[in-house]
Amino acid sequence: MRVKINYELCEGHGRCFDNAYEMFDEREDGKGVAKMEVVPDDDFDMQRAARSAAMMCPMNAIEIIEDD
Ligand code: SF4
Repeated sequence: MRVKINYELCEGHGRCFDNAYEMFDEREDGKGVAKMEVVPDDDFDMQRAARSAAMMCPMNAIEIIEDD
């Protein structure tokens, strides 16, 4: 799984790094940043954190790209 933040959409609401802090950090400009772009297949906790942050993001800025 890959995790990307679309910075055209992200407004720095912080729900990703407040709630899924194991997966996201806060950038200097207040926007979120994924701690890892590629989440290993067997890291279910990190996958869950990424998916829940994507659902919580009010700007729909977190993109989850599933592996084929
Ligand atoms: S929750 Fe969404 S809008 Fe807020 S910082 Fe994270 S990615 Fe950006």
